[in-house]
Amino acid sequence: MRSLNWKLAGALLLVVMVTIGLMAYLMNVGTASEFREYASQSSQNYVQSVASVLGSFYERDQDWTGIDEVLADLLRSSSDRLVVADSEGIVVGDTGRDWLGDPASDAGLSGGTAVVSSGEDVGQVYLFSSFARGGRGFGYGGGSQQQVAASNEQDFLDRVNHWLIMVAIIAAVVALALGLVLIWQIVRPVKLLNRGARQVAEGNLACRVDIRSKDELGELGRSFNAMAASLEGAEAERRRMIADVSHELRTPLTVIEGTVDGIQDGVFPADKEHLDAIREQTALLTRLTADLRDLSLADSGQLRLHLAATDIKDVLQRSLLTFAAPAGSKGIGLGSDLAPDLPRVEIDAARMDQVLGNLITNAIRHTPAGGRITVSARAIEGDRARGVDSPSVLVSVADTGEGIAPEHLPHVFDRFYRVEESRSRGDGGAGLGLAIVRQMVQAHGGTVWVESQPGRGSTFRFALPVRSSGR
Ligand code: ADP
Repeated sequence: MRSLNWKLAGALLLVVMVTIGLMAYLMNVGTASEFREYASQSSQNYVQSVASVLGSFYERDQDWTGIDEVLADLLRSSSDRLVVADSEGIVVGDTGRDWLGDPASDAGLSGGTAVVSSGEDVGQVYLFSSFARGGRGFGYGGGSQQQVAASNEQDFLDRVNHWLIMVAIIAAVVALALGLVLIWQIVRPVKLLNRGARQVAEGNLACRVDIRSKDELGELGRSFNAMAASLEGAEAERRRMIADVSHELRTPLTVIEGTVDGIQDGVFPADKEHLDAIREQTALLTRLTADLRDLSLADSGQLRLHLAATDIKDVLQRSLLTFAAPAGSKGIGLGSDLAPDLPRVEIDAARMDQVLGNLITNAIRHTPAGGRITVSARAIEGDRARGVDSPSVLVSVADTGEGIAPEHLPHVFDRFYRVEESRSRGDGGAGLGLAIVRQMVQAHGGTVWVESQPGRGSTFRFALPVRSSGR
């Protein structure tokens, strides 16, 4: 049987049947044995009390005359038989009436209970009790083979058995019904998860399962939904990425193609100006592909950092030197504020050059002539609000440029995110610079964030842990 439903139901049926069947059987055997014990005990007590009454009877008359009436009164039930033999062993009373006057030994009577009167044995009383089972007689007082056909006790046991069977059937039905409800509660979520997993495998990432229970299966359902949501997000991200990348590649490729076509057709001369345009676009393509490669390496955890304990001041000063000319040519002042005795940090200097390069390039791009860019560094113990919980070196690149509107701030580190599409594109930014900055800083175990006031400037800060484990 393939279905889990049927397997569990089959297992439950088996368990219920075996348990209840065994219980009914054991109760049957136990009840019969206990009842026999009880009947035997009560017969013993009964015959004792009969003997004592007979003793009193004999004491009064010193004779057995009239004993039959007394015996008839003493009978517990019509299926019992009381026989009395006198001290000579002659039957003087018999509720069965067959053996009256016969010697007790002829009737096969033996092992009776003594009737005592004034301290003397004056006879024996025998009881044939009617507990018959499998054709065997059972009684006190006789080796008689008398069979007692009708048996109150057996009737009683039969009635008990009947009830036991009824109770067992009702218990089995109730147990099965409850069990089936429980099985359904287990199987339903499993079926839903199975169907959901198949849908996800077929590419329907929007599929979610509706399991509300608070147990492990509910948890599994929530994990499944979270997994599907994350896959859906990753898929959307992948599509967006492909669209963005092809969009970014199209502009330089169109320029290159148009210029080359123009030169080939003799529309443009193959002079420096046109070759420079082609060169500029290929440089753009090279940077774009390098950025994309870095991001994908960082995504897959394969970005290799050549970490070394470094004086960050050297790295910062090198960047300040590199960008002094571009800043100066735009009429922007580039200064620094570096705290003395900065602790050494474990960094990949080339990657740190890339981070600082992207931040300073952005600052130059978004700061008008006459503005100022300040690169600063200092040691901090931590910054709870920013999630920095260990001693770090805090590096800031602050500009007095246009700033970033609050609605854009949460997104500037996203891939291909540009605040003003057309203007940034004109400047050659693909919206990957800050995404790279974030990936690199995080790869160093650090944290990056931005503070900005539109019209007053922006400050990008990143904290590098003093004992960075890096990757
Ligand atoms: P791009 O390569 O287009 O510059 P980035 O990822 O470096 O992309 O930056 C994303 C966006 O953040 C940019 O479009 C820009 O508008 C904004 N931005 C980045 N740095 C600054 C800054 N210093 N001042 C104002 N805006 C900035």
